[in-house]
Amino acid sequence: MRKFVVILMAAILLPQFAMGWGRLGHRTIAEIAERNLTPKAKANIEKYTGGTPLWKYSLWVDEMRNHPDYKKPLYGLHASIADSDCTSPQIVRDRYRDGKDGVTAMYTFREQLKNYKELPDSVVLYAIKCITHIVADFNCPSHVRYVDNANKGDYPAIFNGKKVGVHRFWDTWLIESLQKDRNPQHYADRLNVLSKKEIKKITKGWAQEWFEDAARSCRPTLYWVDNLKIEKLDQKFIDKATPLVESQLQKAGYQMAEALNTIFGK
Ligand SMILES: [Zn+2]
Repeated sequence: MRKFVVILMAAILLPQFAMGWGRLGHRTIAEIAERNLTPKAKANIEKYTGGTPLWKYSLWVDEMRNHPDYKKPLYGLHASIADSDCTSPQIVRDRYRDGKDGVTAMYTFREQLKNYKELPDSVVLYAIKCITHIVADFNCPSHVRYVDNANKGDYPAIFNGKKVGVHRFWDTWLIESLQKDRNPQHYADRLNVLSKKEIKKITKGWAQEWFEDAARSCRPTLYWVDNLKIEKLDQKFIDKATPLVESQLQKAGYQMAEALNTIFGK
């Protein structure tokens, strides 16, 4: 029985390894984005969403990843790749991921949605669902991939007395320990506090610049864990990881708003 439970738990937990942020992370980021939409972009987006809040779409790409109709178009969107200098030009994305990555997809959507008012509603809504996921994922420490280190983090560690994967520590465990009620609105209240000047700085450019910034910020974490032994992710580790993970949540939220404002603000 016990063995069965373990296998069942593994079956439930394992597919999430490749998904990017867990529920709380994705919903919080989309909530920050929603709060930073311009009135015009918000009104235009609501023509397609019918007023459904963005956080409700933020996990759609994960939920549909194995659906026969979406498996192929959604493939690869959960991560992006940088070289060891933390740059991610198209040549690197093409060579290592065949252009199937979040950053490349964001250029495709920007181009495709230039005349979004002429596109079928379903096409625009599909793009909104993808954008509310992708900008989050490429800011997630365990989903920043480097050509010289896959950093999938699927090696074990100990956190709060439990054996966890380092990958899921970044995706889920850490932020759930920081926002114990797991309420994305409450977490967004705490994180949506950057000044106009700070927001301007982190939203400059488009997906490549945003992802390269994430790659530079997250690169040191590759050396925080010795993956040859089962390390305890102790308070010292958490104190180092917290400002990074919360900064990535903020950047993702404001950049997601910037992407949607750029596309739908006209
Ligand atoms: Zn994902």
